[in-house]
Amino acid sequence: MSHERKRVVVAGNPNAGKTSLFNALTGSNARTGNYPGITVDRRTGTLAIGSRSVELIDVPGTYALTARSAEEQVAIDEILPNDRVGPDAALFVADAGALSRHLYLATQILESGLPTLLCLNMIDEARALGTRIDTDAMSRELGVPVVAVSARTGEGLPALKDALDRLLEAPSSSTIELALDDTLRERLSTLEKVIDEVWPAPRGFDGKRRDARRAALARWAFLSIGDDELTNVPVALRTAVLQADREDASSATDVPLDERLVTARYAIVDRVVAASVTKADKTTRASERIDAVLTHPVWGLGAFAVVMAALFQALFAWSEPLVGAIETAVAWLQDLARSALPEGPLAELIADGVIAGVGNVVVFVPQIALLSLFIVVLEDSGYLARVAFVIDRVMRGVGLHGRAFVPLLSGFACAVPAVMATRTIESRRDRLVTMLALPLMSCSARLPVYALVVAIVFPPGTRTSIGLEAGAIALLAMYALSVTATLAAAAVMKRTVLKGAPPALLLELPPYRLPQITNVLRTVADRTWQFLANAGTMIAAITIVLWALLSFPRDEVREAALDARAEVASAIASEGERDEALTAIDHERAEARMENSLGGRFGRVMEPAIEPLGFDWKIGIGLLASFAAREVLVGTLGIVYGVGGEADETNDTLRERLRAARRDDGSVLFTPLTGVSLMVFFVLAAQCMSTLAAVKRESGTWRWPLFMLVYMNVLAYVASLIVYQGGRLLGFV
Ligand code: GDP
Ligand code: MG
Repeated sequence: MSHERKRVVVAGNPNAGKTSLFNALTGSNARTGNYPGITVDRRTGTLAIGSRSVELIDVPGTYALTARSAEEQVAIDEILPNDRVGPDAALFVADAGALSRHLYLATQILESGLPTLLCLNMIDEARALGTRIDTDAMSRELGVPVVAVSARTGEGLPALKDALDRLLEAPSSSTIELALDDTLRERLSTLEKVIDEVWPAPRGFDGKRRDARRAALARWAFLSIGDDELTNVPVALRTAVLQADREDASSATDVPLDERLVTARYAIVDRVVAASVTKADKTTRASERIDAVLTHPVWGLGAFAVVMAALFQALFAWSEPLVGAIETAVAWLQDLARSALPEGPLAELIADGVIAGVGNVVVFVPQIALLSLFIVVLEDSGYLARVAFVIDRVMRGVGLHGRAFVPLLSGFACAVPAVMATRTIESRRDRLVTMLALPLMSCSARLPVYALVVAIVFPPGTRTSIGLEAGAIALLAMYALSVTATLAAAAVMKRTVLKGAPPALLLELPPYRLPQITNVLRTVADRTWQFLANAGTMIAAITIVLWALLSFPRDEVREAALDARAEVASAIASEGERDEALTAIDHERAEARMENSLGGRFGRVMEPAIEPLGFDWKIGIGLLASFAAREVLVGTLGIVYGVGGEADETNDTLRERLRAARRDDGSVLFTPLTGVSLMVFFVLAAQCMSTLAAVKRESGTWRWPLFMLVYMNVLAYVASLIVYQGGRLLGFV
């Protein structure tokens, strides 16, 4: 390679298309979304331009360099690092259709002296709306190269690479100058002196570049540092900023100085836009008419309810044939294993443990894939942002930030990334509230549990009076419960342990966009694969451990007696009678083993505690195992009921075996009431090690994850108790 490797940071406002561009340039497959706040961590990739290899860094979008939230901090550390050289250049991505808003941050980066290439993305969309941009004029005004591109269609990408190559070959900084008055200048120069002491320019920064860096850091400090939670600020700098009075007694106007700094930047933005952008004066766009309905306080919520109901009905109906096919395949594999392997513990382990366990996870792939498909399509089309807008009113009532919506929604997929997504929330208290409430959102690991229970107690074809499947309604009800519980928990925390002022909304409505098929498929594949990879390995391990726990120790005397009876039975002449007798003995043996096993004894011990919730000791074993990961319940029930199950092939699927399960007194175990009680428990309980670990990492202490563990499980226990006992009082069984 003829050049040293250069680092280029991809900066811009949220939803400017940075990640799309990053992916288009590096061939990487980071996640994009038509929603502000999707990228919360930085990510790097390599771009080859001729013989030059450039390292691109994708950072979270920010509206301005003020570092109020953790994600802004990540971006600022990359753009304006104070302790090292930092990137060689910035690739600033702006939405060509919303330049007045996007260029503000651009001016901040240009001021810092960082060589910058301005990229006007989504030019396809801007053009379609009649916006024309003179990139040459804009380039003259700002003193940096400007290219128009579309990350979606690939238009302009070669020109962008050329321009970046030239910029890296001969780095040059922007020529913009802020028009600042004397008082402001003087205050800032005091801060510049402190900057020189606390954050001296790294080697390699000389002359103009060093001055620009110093000025930019001083302005950043002046706007951002207060007595708030901004960490990593040297004491000397904080003191200097606090002393630099933001009022200006000598001036006739009483506009505070920091506001004047912001105004000076907007003056540049306005000038640039006036010189280079012409907008067609189109009458009300279709999207505005649609928004009038979808963001309406009443119609908007109504539309949302309809969309959700349709979604769950489809989820239920479309996955059914696939689920059936997978179940058949698993049963076939089990038979194959049983007949191919010599009878004994190994065959049992493979057929009843491994194949059944993994099969019981794979069976939920159709539903998980469909659910993530629906969510991605809703998100990419821009509809979710409308929902956020409508929901914001509800959220406000609760005391949550509008920005909490994304994390909460991601909670439907998995709480771990959702906890990370709370970084977009500025106030630490609001962030904690969101983080601690969102594990109540029904993540995809709960879906297999609901789906299994629903399949047992509300078999497909059970229609309700309004014509919807009873199963679909039960499923929808669980999701509704989970959302309600989340909001209620947040409201309570916001008023008790984490009291704080109501937050302001900072959310923009992105334009409606056609979902991009590659992005949709990639996300669906990603999520499904994550589920399979995590659940698969976990299930395999737990399956083996559980199988052992439920099979040993054995009562040797009883085993010997059963062996003797089996010998007698195998001498029976009539084939039908012989098989029947042998099956009965196998059945008895399985039950005996489970009762005598360690797991069985443990389950018995804890049975009194969960009996009031309608659960027997076998479900108890499942509950215990599911604290490793929820979806493990499915595999565990497969084992627990698998060992005692009939070998009859018409009765071979897990759900059929569970439907046939009886309590010790002979009554049906999985009545609709037990099923609902079990689902409610799963909606509310904290049963995921990874989530607890994530909350620990993001909150920096064990206090909050422990708090979460306790409050959620108490809630789950009490709610299931109320459901089961209340249901019985009302006459359900
Ligand atoms: P980021 O928040 O800046 O990383 O933005 P994303 O890359 O996640 O993109 C935001 C949305 O804009 C997504 O729905 C993209 O599909 C869409 N998008 C990105 N680039 C383009 C483009 O050039 N044209 C159009 N029409 N849409 C784009
Ligand atoms: Mg992004």
